[in-house]
Amino acid sequence: MMAAVKACSVLITGANRGLGLEMVKQLAEGSCPKRQIFAGCRDPDGPRSEKLRELAEKHPGIITIIQLDVTNPSSIKESAKKVAPMLEKTGLNLLVNNAGVLAHGTMLSTSDKEMHDAFNTNLMGPFTVTKEYLPYLRTAAKASGTSGMSCDKAAIINISAGLGSMTQMLTLYSNFPTFSYSVSKAGLNMLTVYTSTEVKNDEILCVSIHPGWVKTDMGGDKAPLEMKESVGELLRVMSGLTEKQHGGFLDYKGETLPW
Ligand code: NAP
Repeated sequence: MMAAVKACSVLITGANRGLGLEMVKQLAEGSCPKRQIFAGCRDPDGPRSEKLRELAEKHPGIITIIQLDVTNPSSIKESAKKVAPMLEKTGLNLLVNNAGVLAHGTMLSTSDKEMHDAFNTNLMGPFTVTKEYLPYLRTAAKASGTSGMSCDKAAIINISAGLGSMTQMLTLYSNFPTFSYSVSKAGLNMLTVYTSTEVKNDEILCVSIHPGWVKTDMGGDKAPLEMKESVGELLRVMSGLTEKQHGGFLDYKGETLPW
């Protein structure tokens, strides 16, 4: 299904491969005429961003590639300096905190480095990026002239994971011990709840979404879902979000997940 998200300006982190790249693709192919997509990636000129560069060439004036390493606060600040002048007075409608890393391991086998990497990317990243871009989301919320919440108006979507669910952990553990990832995504979910509380009066929507188990470099070959399907469904769910789901944890089908 075609993306029905009508947000005019969108920033996606980790947009050079996997789900981030597929989201840029589907949004660029969507029917919104004046769309601006800021595709964040940490190495825009490197070999891992080749597909994103090709996609950006196909959609000139729509996709702008932005250097953005979510673990590097000065890269985040610099990215906003480039994005801000390109935003119209209507601000930034949609921020998708998608960049993420996964290491396998139990609590006892996980190294300090793996723990730091997971926290820096999966939790500190969305925390710092959200704070940096909040003024532009606020501008969008004010400029919309409508009441209520939506991804078209002003929203923060945190791409979380079922593996970050405390309730589901016991059933997932035997097949997927992913300690650093699970703890960081549980933290990301708390970030969603905190953020949603603190931006409620601004009418900025904030939700955690699990994209399903998807065939990407991270998800691997055994994953049942194709990227196209996961992102198609994600965008469909995102397009229907309102204040009712604000501060919640959903999957790519729109079902509520237990924390
Ligand atoms: P992926 O194929 O491994 O892609 C990860 C993306 O994140 C890449 O673009 C990568 O860029 C980027 N990234 C990593 N560290 C970064 C940093 N410091 N700064 C900027 N970008 C960075 O993973 P994916 O499957 O698309 O996952 C996307 C999101 O979905 C993640 O948050 C993941 O936790 C979540 N998720 C995925 C699944 C699944 O089954 N695939 C399931 C649940 C949740 P580089 O090329 O520079 O490394």
